[in-house]
Amino acid sequence: MPGIRLDSVSKVFDGRQLAVDRVSLDISPGECMVLLGPSGCGKTTLLRMIAGLEEPTEGTLWFGRTEITDLPPKERGVALVFQNGALYPHRTARENIRFPLRMAAEDHEESHAKVTGVANILGIDETLDRFPRTLSGGERQRVAIGRALVRQPRVFLMDEPLSNLDATMRTELRQEIGAMVRDLDVTTVYVTHDQVEALTLADRIAIMRGGRIEDVGTPEQIFHDPATAFTAGFLGTPRINLMSATVRVTDHHRVSLDFGAQSISLPPVDRRSLILTDHDGERVIVGARSDAFTPAAGGSANQLSGALRALEFHGSDWMAFVQADIELVNPDLVGRTSRTTAPERGSARTRHASARDSGLTTFAKAIPGVRQVRDRIVRRRRTPPPAAQATAATHRRADLVIELGDASALQPGTKVHLTVDTSRLHIFDESGRRVDRVTR
Ligand code: ATP
Repeated sequence: MPGIRLDSVSKVFDGRQLAVDRVSLDISPGECMVLLGPSGCGKTTLLRMIAGLEEPTEGTLWFGRTEITDLPPKERGVALVFQNGALYPHRTARENIRFPLRMAAEDHEESHAKVTGVANILGIDETLDRFPRTLSGGERQRVAIGRALVRQPRVFLMDEPLSNLDATMRTELRQEIGAMVRDLDVTTVYVTHDQVEALTLADRIAIMRGGRIEDVGTPEQIFHDPATAFTAGFLGTPRINLMSATVRVTDHHRVSLDFGAQSISLPPVDRRSLILTDHDGERVIVGARSDAFTPAAGGSANQLSGALRALEFHGSDWMAFVQADIELVNPDLVGRTSRTTAPERGSARTRHASARDSGLTTFAKAIPGVRQVRDRIVRRRRTPPPAAQATAATHRRADLVIELGDASALQPGTKVHLTVDTSRLHIFDESGRRVDRVTR
C-alpha cells in the first residue's frame, strides 16, 4: 500500500472561501493519520481531495511516487466511509458488502469468500442476511465499512464514521476500527473532531485549524509536547490552564513568570530559562494542565494561591476551581489575531506569515480567479487590530481548574496554595507558538 503526500494543497470554494490553506503532509505506508480539529477547519475538504471528490485549487497529491492530483476517484483505489454510510435499503447486508465486487464483475465464489472474510473481521457474520432497516446504527456502519474494505483499497478514508452512534457503540466500534486498520495495514486517513477518537486510533494526529495544519505528531507528542497554545487547548479534559504572564529577568539571570499579583521562577537549568533571558518584559502564555498543581502548605517557593471557589466530584477525582486573579487566555482565539497582524517584529510567526503571503502571490498570479481572495487575505493580515481589542478577545479573568485525587482537606471559600511543577509547564509566545524547540 502507498504512502500519501500532500504538497502545498489549497482549496478555495466559489473563488472566495479558503477551506484548505497550503497544507503539506506526509503519511507513511500503512499509517493511520487522524485529521483532528474544530468544525469548519477543513478536515472533510482535505479528505475529499485525497479521495478525488474535490479538485485542489493549488498543490499536488501523491500516492507513493505516483501523482494523483488529476486522477479520477475511481482510479485511485480509495475506499471512503462517511458519517452515515448509506446502504441500499432493499439489499441485505451481504449484498451491500458484495456490491462493489459485483460492479467489478468478480468471480462469485471468490467474492463470497471476501464478503465472509470482511464480515468476520467486523464481527457481523450473524447479520449478513438481514436488511439495513433491521440493523442497529453500529451494525449498519460496520456493513458500510465492510463494503468499503471488501475491494482491498490502497487507501482507506473515514469521515467521522462514529458520530451518529451512541456513546457505548462508539467506544466499541472505535476499538474495532483501531484493531482493524492495524491488522489490515492499510494507509488510513480518519477525520474527527473527537479528541478521544484521535488519541486512541491515530499513529499520528494532524491538528487542523482555519484550513491549515497547526501541529503533527504522535498522540503522546501532541498531548505532552504541543507546538501551539491552540493544540494544547484542543486536547485534554479539563482544558489546559493557559495563563497570561510577563517574563521577568533578575540581575542574576533568573527568569520568573509574573502573573500580576504572583509569580513563579523557572529553575536556572530549565532550557526555557536560557531562552527567556533575552525576553525580559515580554508577554508569554503559560500552559499548565490541571494535574500540574499540587495543594500544599503556604510559604514555599513556586506556589500560586487563590480562593477555592468550588469543588466538583467527577467520580475518580475532584475538580477544584481556584480564583487566583490570573488572566487566562482562550486557546481558540490565540494566534488568530496574529494572522491579521502586520509583520513588524520579525518573529517566527510573522516570518511565516510573510512567506505565506509571497506563496499566495505566486498562487494568485498563476490563477487569476484567486487574486481577489489573496488580496483580501493579505489585506486582513496587514490590518493590525487595536491592541486592547485583541487582548479583550483572548484574555479573561477566570478560575484555574485543578485536578485532585482527594479533596477531603479542602473547603470551598478558603484560600489554597498550589505548588506548580515547572517541568510540566508549556510556554508559548503571544502568538501561541512554543518558545522552546518542539520534539517530533
Ligand atoms: P465539520 O467538522 O463541521 O465537518 P470540517 O473541518 O470538515 O468541518 P469542511 O467541511 O472541510 O470543514 O469545511 C471547511 C470550510 O469550507 C468551511 O468554512 C465550509 O463552510 C467551507 N466549505 C466546505 N464545502 C464547501 C462547498 N462545497 N462550498 C463552499 N464552501 C464550502
